[in-house]
Amino acid sequence: MASLDSKVPGGPVETKWTNHKFNMKLVNPANKRKHSVIVVGTGLAGASAAASMGELGYKVKAFCVHESPRRAHSVAAQGGINAAKNYQNDGDSIYRLFYDTVKGGDFRAREANVHRLAELSVKIIDQAVAQGVPFAREYGGTLSNRSFGGAQVSRTFYARGQTGQQLLIGAYQSMMRQVEAGSVELRTRREMLDLVVVDGKARGVIMRNLLTGELEHYEADAVVLASGGYSNVFYLSTNAMACAVTAAWRAHKRGAYFANPCYTQIHPTCIPVHGDNQSKLTLMSESLRNDGRVWVSKIKDDRRSPLEIPEAERDYFLERVYPSYGNLAPRDIASRQAKYRCDEGHSVIPGQSAVYLDFADSIKRNSEAKIAERYGNLFQMYEKITGENPYKVPMKIYPAPHYTMGGLWVDYNLMTTIPGLFAAGEANFSDHGANRLGASALMQGLADGYFVVPYTIGDYIANNKIEPVATTHEAFKEAHNNIDKQISQLMNIKGERTVESFHKQLGRIMWDECGMARNEKGLKRALEEIPKLREEFWQNVRVPGDANYLNPELEKAGRVADFIELGELMCRDALERKESCGGHYREEFQVDGEAKRDDENYCNVFAWEWKSEKEKQALHKEELKFENVKLATRSYK
Ligand SMILES: Cc1cc2nc3c(=O)[nH]c(=O)nc-3n(C[C@H](O)[C@H](O)[C@H](O)COP(=O)(O)OP(=O)(O)OC[C@H]3O[C@@H](n4cnc5c(N)ncnc54)[C@H](O)[C@@H]3O)c2cc1C
Repeated sequence: MASLDSKVPGGPVETKWTNHKFNMKLVNPANKRKHSVIVVGTGLAGASAAASMGELGYKVKAFCVHESPRRAHSVAAQGGINAAKNYQNDGDSIYRLFYDTVKGGDFRAREANVHRLAELSVKIIDQAVAQGVPFAREYGGTLSNRSFGGAQVSRTFYARGQTGQQLLIGAYQSMMRQVEAGSVELRTRREMLDLVVVDGKARGVIMRNLLTGELEHYEADAVVLASGGYSNVFYLSTNAMACAVTAAWRAHKRGAYFANPCYTQIHPTCIPVHGDNQSKLTLMSESLRNDGRVWVSKIKDDRRSPLEIPEAERDYFLERVYPSYGNLAPRDIASRQAKYRCDEGHSVIPGQSAVYLDFADSIKRNSEAKIAERYGNLFQMYEKITGENPYKVPMKIYPAPHYTMGGLWVDYNLMTTIPGLFAAGEANFSDHGANRLGASALMQGLADGYFVVPYTIGDYIANNKIEPVATTHEAFKEAHNNIDKQISQLMNIKGERTVESFHKQLGRIMWDECGMARNEKGLKRALEEIPKLREEFWQNVRVPGDANYLNPELEKAGRVADFIELGELMCRDALERKESCGGHYREEFQVDGEAKRDDENYCNVFAWEWKSEKEKQALHKEELKFENVKLATRSYK
């Protein structure tokens, strides 16, 4: 059994990464072209990793499910990317970003990784600016910053409300340069359905060509999974429809441990659910909380228009409960407070849950034009969806599933428990602990891709004798046959229910029992319901069409089958973690509505090992040590 050695190097936290880089073995430039690496996913993490490794000289094979890497879900990121540049001269530093991120994650992340992330944050901005990413600038030409939750400094770099898109264009261009140069082979519309492990090492993948249905074999010396997060397990989330856990889950079934699956982020500012037939929720970026004030009426079931509610009858609850951070309280905390107000009867939409996000004061202070300059595209999107003009009436918002801090367990080198299999970006569990601070996912994905994996893969290749392997190897055949079998099984059930109906039912269970608040009774209920749902899925799902052709229903069926298994593990993980921390809020463990951690017993990472279809996953733990940021109750008051 692989051991849970985090491989964090010794020495002071500030010098660990620098020393580690020096101590790592290098691959001679002439030898790099003899080595190949597969990169699954070409969002920010994957495209940056493929571009950097291509530039270094490795032979890279990159894949994505989309028709273009530019459609990766990273394109949706609106608000910004953090970096400790201290351009505002407001007291920021690498150490402060490190500190804020450890505290923001409620002391459930690895200190050494978080410090490295803060160090690399400054390099990412330089890299992106050099690529021509059009970050917002001040009149004099310097880069602008705004604030995000959980920080009292302005360190978020942004490109209006399209930061992810602009950063992705930068990473994509760098990758395409390597495609042109011949060092990266890019294949789109491919879905990884299995990982191939030979002699205990990750050596390849089986991809389904989504246009022809053909199963294709690819081999390499190492594999990087950068396949994104799994919020769509909730069915309704802010994630793009194609986001799925399949690549990570299939790797889990081949031996990669899955860490902290129950750590999911519910984002406080989304457009509320408005009907049974909705399949997607829309985020209103956290950046809006720089200028928007969150409030409800002090009177329960108040049906007056917000414009008729006088100041004295409004409860600006985040400013009231968290005077130091106010509307920029971290996401987990801000979401819970919105839930409490709605549970107490102060929702601003009858029969549903919502609170106001109001820009009237900042428009008065700064002018409508200034607010439009900062958030114009977000306001336009809001108006298109709701038919209301947010310059005139407050937005109505409510928390929704948004990001997953859990993912494949990785050591300091971002290697999973399968030698040669690395995980980057949202696909790994990495740096955010139990709650991710805003604007730190783009930072982490790009740090992993541009600056961590290209080094650590070299060290892996230099330290291991990697024999050539052919795609006709038995291990490829076995994986291929497994997938074939699963696809035939799905096609032949010919049941009565659509794939979508199963996904929706799973999402309901997950939201009700493993969502913003969890408790033992509910989690146990979910653990009875999900296996029944799984059984029914395999007896009664209907997948129309042909397996050997373009078939989006078949694609979805495989993804939903994986989501059902993941959902069960998430509930087990949440049940087993008998404390509240960050986004994992167990109602039994709280003090005055705030998360109550149990550092004595749970200052650790849960990492689950797949056993077999018949046996439950085994739990392993990685103990976390806090030698720099003192373990303390998190307070934003
Ligand atoms: C609406 C929204 C706004 C956000 N705003 C911000 C923000 O302002 N700041 C911030 O820091 N973070 C933000 N985030 C979070 C951030 O966007 C994501 O965490 C990040 O972009 C994930 O990048 P990634 O490269 O890990 O994954 P993705 O961008 O999701 O890319 C995954 C890639 O993997 C491929 N893939 C997936 N499965 C397979 C498979 N089986 N086989 C082959 N390929 C596969 C996909 O095609 C894609 O190329 C936001 C998230 C959302 C939902």
